[in-house]
Amino acid sequence: MPLAAEDVLTKYEAVIGLEVHVQLATATKIFCGCPTSFGAPPNTNVCPVCLGLPGALPVLSRQAVELAVQAALALNCRVNPRSIFARKNYFYPDLPKGYQISQYDQPLAEHGFVDIDADSVKKRIGVTRVHMEDDAGKSIHDGFKDSDKYTYVDLNRCGTPLIEIVSEPDMRTSSEAHAYLTEIKQVLQFVGVSTCDMEKGHLRCDANVSIRPRGAEKLGTKAEIKNLNSFRFLKMAVDQEIERQAAILESGGRVLQETRLFNPDTGETVGMRSKEHAHDYRYFPEPDLVPLRVSDAWLAQIRESVPELPAARRARFIESYGLREYDAQVLTATRAIGDYFEQAARASSDPRAAANWVMGDLTAALKEAGKEISESPVSADNLGRLVAMIHQGQLSGKLAKDVFVKMFAASETAEAVVDREGLSQISDEGALAKIIDDVIAANPKQVEQYRGGKTAVLAFFVGQVMKASRGQADPAAVNKLLREKL
Ligand code: ADP
Ligand code: ZN
Ligand code: MG
Repeated sequence: MPLAAEDVLTKYEAVIGLEVHVQLATATKIFCGCPTSFGAPPNTNVCPVCLGLPGALPVLSRQAVELAVQAALALNCRVNPRSIFARKNYFYPDLPKGYQISQYDQPLAEHGFVDIDADSVKKRIGVTRVHMEDDAGKSIHDGFKDSDKYTYVDLNRCGTPLIEIVSEPDMRTSSEAHAYLTEIKQVLQFVGVSTCDMEKGHLRCDANVSIRPRGAEKLGTKAEIKNLNSFRFLKMAVDQEIERQAAILESGGRVLQETRLFNPDTGETVGMRSKEHAHDYRYFPEPDLVPLRVSDAWLAQIRESVPELPAARRARFIESYGLREYDAQVLTATRAIGDYFEQAARASSDPRAAANWVMGDLTAALKEAGKEISESPVSADNLGRLVAMIHQGQLSGKLAKDVFVKMFAASETAEAVVDREGLSQISDEGALAKIIDDVIAANPKQVEQYRGGKTAVLAFFVGQVMKASRGQADPAAVNKLLREKL
């Protein structure tokens, strides 16, 4: 009898380690000058080096190394002063060289970590290593007239620079795996190491999953699930794999060490190849590349170029602007939104109000217009000045919302809209007194009620004055003057 999903997790504990492949944001390939641009006609971004033609020699891209080191530092790794490229040999049609150039026993960086927050539980996940490698090409199985007989190969992607980030087996649930991948993606995007665009294959993930009886020390046999190309699939595949392994153990069986493929259509994983007798990659040092040396001076220079990371920024926003944790999270989701907020906050002299405007009206307007924050028609300075006008009592919150809509529509400053529409708040006593006198004269019955002790009628008068002023009267001044006059 298979266990129900919730009983599986009572009886067994899952152990998960992820291998994440990230495409570095270089314009050219790792060992040659071919462009890495996406969507070029098949087999046009190629040369003798990335095609692995005899006699062609690889030259390591300096920019790829710098991005890889930035990533390693952002993931809290120790960068090795000397690392070695190795050939990982296997035969596959999309690999013309017959080997992948990767790093094996002496990787670029080791001993890092990533802090995650899964279901409100904070946890540190170890990063075993970050190493550099080149990507293979792509087999195309359908879309051609004779696709039933042939597979086509596009080698444009051959030699695209990648880093592989290998985690310790520190995750215990699919939520933790999801949170870990989310954090990696956010950090790498922040640093600008990669676009991490999953649809273009710039971020790919393999999940290693095993289970063991709760309380056991020894790790169970793992299955490796390949090429999970979305966050949702990662979660589904891990959950499904935990259940599959539990069912095997419950029926007295043994989990095989193997590589499995996730099928998004069925939500299930299927065996691809057994690891027990499959892979001997015959790794050996790449004879055409010298060891990669990262000097202290170069490392220090690269360290300088790593910007403030999301976690540090969150903490600083809470500390120096008094933001709530949730707001700090939203406002550090991307580097762009954080930069925008900080600039608006500086111009506003009311950071928490600026935060609300960015997360509220601005985000909604951008969403409706289908725009990114970098394309916002309202600049951070202009939004900040709008918030400042509210702060200084020149605009009511309600009027400010209308002003904002107009600013957004025509890329105008708050001052320009207010001047043109004559919208600034009336707190001038002379002008207000005139409106109030009119309202009092027009409503004798309510005046009598008020004077007879029914002071709740004051709200009625405030409402009438606001209406007569088209919402521009300063409510505090109105209250004060009304009391005096009544
Ligand atoms: P392999 O030799 O199969 O490539 P590695 O030891 O290099 O295995 O580990 C690959 C990934 O699998 C790492 O992320 C690691 O944390 C994870 N891993 C290793 N053993 C287990 C296990 N028993 N259960 C789950 N994950 C594991
Ligand atoms: Zn090339
Ligand atoms: Mg391995």
